[in-house]
Amino acid sequence: MSASSPTRPRILVTNDDGYDAPGLRALVEMLEPLGDLVVAAPDREQSGSSHALTLELPLRVTRVGDGRFRISGTPTDCVHLAVFSLTGGRLPDLVVSGINRGLNVGDDVIYSGTVAGAMEGALLHVPSLALSAAIDERGNVDYARHGEFVRGLVTQLLERGLGDGVLLNVNFPATAPRGVRVTRQGTRRYRATAVERVDPSGRPYFWIAGADVAPTGEPDGDHRAIAEQRISVTPLHTDLTHAPTRDRLGEWGLGEG
Ligand code: MN
Repeated sequence: MSASSPTRPRILVTNDDGYDAPGLRALVEMLEPLGDLVVAAPDREQSGSSHALTLELPLRVTRVGDGRFRISGTPTDCVHLAVFSLTGGRLPDLVVSGINRGLNVGDDVIYSGTVAGAMEGALLHVPSLALSAAIDERGNVDYARHGEFVRGLVTQLLERGLGDGVLLNVNFPATAPRGVRVTRQGTRRYRATAVERVDPSGRPYFWIAGADVAPTGEPDGDHRAIAEQRISVTPLHTDLTHAPTRDRLGEWGLGEG
């Protein structure tokens, strides 16, 4: 880790694949030249944890190095604790979450702990970035391939910032990218959502597994960009209000007060 300096930006790094994930290690290596890092990541896999905040259980923090923390919680817990306890309440200049093993496109965004880690940064009014990479046919992810893009984007984010409550959701294709596309959050349909089996005691259990997916393929959507081997950059916002419905509800006679 580089020596602390008042001129160096402070970057908070988290993920949802867990502290030992290769994607986190790769991300830390990419970002170390750009600022002083605090790494606060779950001590185990937390994929699919969405924006859960742990309220009913104690959280354990293991300091594994200078500014390096393994936490027994979700990505949201990690960002929250890092900002309010572990670094003395000083907001970072940027929150970066990832690099996730596997895409977070379309509906994945709703379930994703990776996106939630960045969303928590956005809720704290800090420019934030979620990074996810597709798994190739052999089950591998080449994280290091994206170092130059990540450093370039992070440099721009530190210089330009983002609107309040805004984060960027970035997805990398499995093969060498052929370009970068600014996209919208697409949709996708899971064909199988759960598998039923029987345990050794004869009791049924269920395993949630998004087997096959059928992307709906909006031309400006994140799926399409990935299918066409582009890096997808989707701006997301913490305000989930759906403006057209808000207008339409007036016709229902609601909102007169
Ligand atoms: Mn994950």
